[in-house]
Amino acid sequence: MSVFAYNANGEMQAEGVALETIAQQVGTPFYCYSAGALRAGWQEFADGMKGLNASVCYALKANSNLAVVKLFGDLGAGADIVSVGEMRRALAAGIAPRRIIFSGVGKKPSELMAALEAGIGQINVESSAELETLNAVAGQLGVKAAITIRVNPDVDAGTHAKITTGRKENKFGVDIDLARDAYALAARLPNLEVVGVAMHIGSQLIALDPYRDAIAKVRGLITQLRADGHRIERFDIGGGLGIVYADEKPPSIAAFMQLVTKETDGLGCALTFEPGRRLVGEAGVLVAEVILVKPGVSKTFVIVDAAMNDLIRPTLYEAWHDIVPARRPRPDGATIRCDIVGPVCESGDYLAQNRDLPPLSAGDLVMVRSAGAYGAVMASSYNTRPLVPEVMVDGTRFAVVRPRPSIDEMLSSERIPPWMEPA
Ligand SMILES: *Cc1c(COP(=O)(O)O)cnc(C)c1O
Repeated sequence: MSVFAYNANGEMQAEGVALETIAQQVGTPFYCYSAGALRAGWQEFADGMKGLNASVCYALKANSNLAVVKLFGDLGAGADIVSVGEMRRALAAGIAPRRIIFSGVGKKPSELMAALEAGIGQINVESSAELETLNAVAGQLGVKAAITIRVNPDVDAGTHAKITTGRKENKFGVDIDLARDAYALAARLPNLEVVGVAMHIGSQLIALDPYRDAIAKVRGLITQLRADGHRIERFDIGGGLGIVYADEKPPSIAAFMQLVTKETDGLGCALTFEPGRRLVGEAGVLVAEVILVKPGVSKTFVIVDAAMNDLIRPTLYEAWHDIVPARRPRPDGATIRCDIVGPVCESGDYLAQNRDLPPLSAGDLVMVRSAGAYGAVMASSYNTRPLVPEVMVDGTRFAVVRPRPSIDEMLSSERIPPWMEPA
């Protein structure tokens, strides 16, 4: 059962707190995360990995709020990061540097330098050029950088074009057919220490077959690499496990781990998983208030105070998010066909289109489900809309974990050039 459910009075709650209570104190829109759901997601991984030589490095980019990162860090998670900013978050949340993996297709020398200075445990290199750069940076610092090479196994993850990463035509990783050359280069570079191989084939995967195919291909590569004399001790399988937005049937973590156990049996590698979305997506919602309802000829527009700048997934990925009123609808089942849209001046500004929702009116709250991943982290202040705040609920407690900035704060970071100032 979801931790977001109506109570006996018909009010939508996050765990033990009514969303209306939060809305009264924080205002709308806001993101709301359930600590209980985050912990339950973590526990699924912990249970599934029993008996495996494996660890989880939470992919911060899905939701990098410090409270979320600290919750996972306290439970034993490492971190998968894609920028120095995310590294600073992981460190600030108390995650040990050696438990941090630096991923990403375009790391700058200054970022590699910062990562090595911090003692990051593993850098997943994505190109020969990056091998050379990292070798040079490590040389300057007089350290050896522990690396894997992220290989692109050319499998179709069967997901949206903008979140598939493991095809030949994607920018990510080293083509698996060129991987042996890249490893040979890495072995020649004196300041690199090869420790393993990495992959990450896409996001919101619903089928296990792409993992099976990719692991089989990388397994073949590992055998070759070892024959070539490389030490391959770690196999980083990446993230990508899907969640429920509409009626998807994503695999259980137990089923995923069974597959991984079978496919990596006897390989003798320590395994790493880098889940992002799966750990946070269903644990978060976006709450908005209806500003007004605008009946049209073909359909009705429900204009709410959350917009594409707060949650860009519907317009960026054509993503479908379930939207429900924060008050249990009357049992007569009446609905109206509507688009739920924001106030931003863009036709792409919608949260949902062609939905049959119970009649809504100004002041009602609505809840957008499965918004915990790639929601707040992708928010912007387009139209000078303050960054949407984030709230964490834990049982009957809640705390604002990122406040809404005031307009004054937003303006105060900008500068008028001196030549425009009045004389
Ligand atoms: C984005 C990303 C992840 C997390 O992906 P999810 O689909 O959120 O699990 C893991 N590893 C790498 C390298 C990534 O780029």
